[in-house]
Amino acid sequence: MALLSIVVPCYNEEETVDLFFEALMKVLRTMDLKYEVIFVNDGSKDSTLEKMVRLYHANPGVVKVIDFSRNFGKEGALLAGLRAAKGDYVTVMDADLQDPPEYIPKMFAVMEANNDDVVGTRRVTRKGEPKIRSWFARQFYQLINRFTEVEIVDGARDFRLMKRQVVDSILSLKEYGRFSKGLFVWVGFKCEYLEYENIKRVAGETKWSFPKLFRYALDGIIEYTVMPLSIASWVGGILTIIMLIVLIAMFILNLLGHSISGTSLLIALVLFMGGVILLSSGILGEYLAKVYDEVRHRPNYIIKKFYE
Ligand code: UDP
Ligand code: MG
Repeated sequence: MALLSIVVPCYNEEETVDLFFEALMKVLRTMDLKYEVIFVNDGSKDSTLEKMVRLYHANPGVVKVIDFSRNFGKEGALLAGLRAAKGDYVTVMDADLQDPPEYIPKMFAVMEANNDDVVGTRRVTRKGEPKIRSWFARQFYQLINRFTEVEIVDGARDFRLMKRQVVDSILSLKEYGRFSKGLFVWVGFKCEYLEYENIKRVAGETKWSFPKLFRYALDGIIEYTVMPLSIASWVGGILTIIMLIVLIAMFILNLLGHSISGTSLLIALVLFMGGVILLSSGILGEYLAKVYDEVRHRPNYIIKKFYE
């Protein structure tokens, strides 16, 4: 029988762990497969770990617990969970029931029907979320998608069902700064998205304050794209060209007998030099981007199947 691993990163989730587990079990018991639930305690300061350990003792062979020495963030917890997962299928879920367990059988059905390697989920509404947060989220997806070769679907959640091979591919990416939303897409494979409306968390509070979310978005852009490095070359290049035209115009006007004031000439020269300097640092940035790509040690390709 196939084994399904469920990876659950948790940070201060004492109010939700039990509720989540109960809801999950209700669904899993109806399914015709073996399962393991891997809880990752991401340095919680409340009784999350105690709750997990209790579940561990009550459900031998089903519940596994990874306890972090401190809060490393969701990305770290996700990675640890994926590494520990032994399943032929793996799914990642939040502990707050915003990822409805009822979707697991649906995901399996879709995967089966379409022969997918991944079935993801995506929120089509952001109801119950502050408007400004949704606005920033939309800008983020637009920005990051403009500068990367693969598209991160707007509203895609980490909640997804993956086949073993996809998980192994994700784990083969050795970079330290992990932006999973990007990595999940980057590895490719045949993927389908199930859509659902936003669901409020059952208990507790969101662990993502606005500054933390902003930081996450920024990390995503910086780790996943090298776009910020090319900003300097763009601005510098444009400034250099504009100021070059202005200087030539001044020169011609001067030839035609118009007098050019020393101050405006000086300003034009300074701006021109500014553009040249920015452009040069932009070129350095481009090289840095190449170095950055190298040190990430991403594979040049991932083979789905080798027909020999
Ligand atoms: N989480 C984590 N480490 C963190 C922050 C969050 O493991 O530093 C977990 C959290 O316990 C939850 C999931 O990541 O299971 C998603 O967090 P949350 O529900 O607070 O985010 P939101 O749904 O509001 O985006
Ligand atoms: Mg949540």
